[in-house]
Amino acid sequence: MRLNIEALNDAKELSGLENTVIEISHVSKQFGGFKAVDDANFGIRQGEFFSMLGPSGCGKTTTLRMIAGFEQPTSGEVRLDGKDVSKVPPYKRNVNTVFQNYALFPHMTVFDNIAFGPRSTKAPKGEIAGRVKEMLEIVHLADFAERRPTQLSGGQQQRVALARALVNYPSALLLDEPLGALDLKLRQTMQLELKRIQREVGITFVFVTHDQEEALTMSDRIAVMNAGRVEQIGTPEEIYHQPATVFVAGFIGVANLIPAAVVAVTGDLATVDAAGHRFGVPVTDESIKPADSAVVMVRPERLHISLDRPTGDLAAVEATVEELVFQGPVLRASLRTAAGTELVAHIGPEDALPMLRPGDRLWASWVLDAACLLRSVDTTAETALVS
Ligand code: ATP
Repeated sequence: MRLNIEALNDAKELSGLENTVIEISHVSKQFGGFKAVDDANFGIRQGEFFSMLGPSGCGKTTTLRMIAGFEQPTSGEVRLDGKDVSKVPPYKRNVNTVFQNYALFPHMTVFDNIAFGPRSTKAPKGEIAGRVKEMLEIVHLADFAERRPTQLSGGQQQRVALARALVNYPSALLLDEPLGALDLKLRQTMQLELKRIQREVGITFVFVTHDQEEALTMSDRIAVMNAGRVEQIGTPEEIYHQPATVFVAGFIGVANLIPAAVVAVTGDLATVDAAGHRFGVPVTDESIKPADSAVVMVRPERLHISLDRPTGDLAAVEATVEELVFQGPVLRASLRTAAGTELVAHIGPEDALPMLRPGDRLWASWVLDAACLLRSVDTTAETALVS
């Protein structure tokens, strides 16, 4: 069931915007002398599940609040459906926000909670009943229409809040850590449920979270923010496999970060000296030049462990086993190179080496395109591993 999407798309084509619903154009937000958001510049497309991800205090909520209209940018422009909304108050913007505490009306039934928005727009009675029923079906609560919020579980209340926010067909739904109040199991169920609802209604969701797993599970694209700046925007796969910065590499999953000196750059392959070895690394950052300091990033599951030096077109470093921890699906091996760099390898059941013990010397290798070369930043080269 898709809601009025044809009509929405027609409107976009008419305005010549194609499929961008929200434009954040060189937006900064200053609180006193503190820059909470620094030159954010990106667009969010019609029908996509877009997440803003980053550590506490990085500016995600402030960006969301500027889209909703609860904060004004200090500079730059927020455009909704192609129009500058700097003078438009929150209640007149065609977006709706779902907060962590749901904010349901306790004295009203589920039906009346969801009907509240359409009733206040004075929509015809029959149309309101039809829309509420449609929403109840989408959020799988058709049998709960006459209950009050106190007679519902946390997950059910969350779904009522969603239905209430979606029933007026907003251009976008803004969600600020909406799963934060739920326990882990329910949270994981609701992640999939939210994604299903979003796909079904086809409305743009803008989701704020500090939980990288949550963002990877649900998003079509993710903006990773750090200290007020957007460091990278991409699909979950792009962000995981080709992080643009050392911060992004470390914030999403576990990353081995090996300090390296660039020896040469030929086309899109750099030759580097790292951990006492020389090998090739694909390079996408055109600003990286010979003699630069850089960081080789390779994920733990891409490391292959062998007792003998591997042959063939591989990058390989020699290391000593420091610790082995059985983690169920993988054996987590902590290794240290002679240069002192700590590495982590996730060894799957097929790769498990017999008789591996702390103190053993071995080789960690990877196919060249499993790694990427990142510009080094002052402190991170010291910290070889970020998890
Ligand atoms: P969290 O995950 O903890 O909610 P966040 O990434 O959403 O973090 P924001 O709430 O956007 O972060 O806050 C960004 C920074 O701006 C923080 O350092 C915060 O203290 C500051 N800040 C936010 N609102 C205000 C305000 N009204 N006045 C002063 N500083 C503020």
